[in-house]
Amino acid sequence: MRNLSIIILIIIAISIWETVDKTPPEGLKAMVADSLIQNDTEKGNTSMSDKSFSCEEDWKSKLTPEQYSVLREKGTERAFTGKYTYNKESGIYKCAACGNELFSSETKYDSGSGWPSFWNAYKSESVIERTDNSHFMTRTEIICSKCGSHLGHLFDDGPNPSGMRYCINSIALDFEPKK
Ligand SMILES: [Zn+2]
Repeated sequence: MRNLSIIILIIIAISIWETVDKTPPEGLKAMVADSLIQNDTEKGNTSMSDKSFSCEEDWKSKLTPEQYSVLREKGTERAFTGKYTYNKESGIYKCAACGNELFSSETKYDSGSGWPSFWNAYKSESVIERTDNSHFMTRTEIICSKCGSHLGHLFDDGPNPSGMRYCINSIALDFEPKK
């Protein structure tokens, strides 16, 4: 309920702002979007795809066909073909669809799997885990917490300290080198 009151207050603030003939600042809009997403998370609703895009066609115009196939249709790029598998530069890996910061080079390691592998997410709220029962297996799917795009899968054969392996498609990532 507290969250709802905050959202209502922010919406009122925006309306007041608009009646005085000014555009609401982007920061305020982002706050509303963030609190809405947070609200969904608290309800355990992980179907957050298309929050920032109105329909699948928008994704098709924004992404390459290869990106669309992985990010929006849960495809997997062929092992050892991704551009970040062996990338050892320092920096942040962002969601190729929405720019959400997902993984840091500090937790990247060579798993030998042929896909970029990380032993942790950038922040615990960067990604969402979801059960995936496709291909006659039960796996844990990793999706972007902001746009719901498919990123890869999570396995429990990673190195210390987490023991986890975030196995991620290069094509789902955008690498930003550290400045
Ligand atoms: Zn995203």
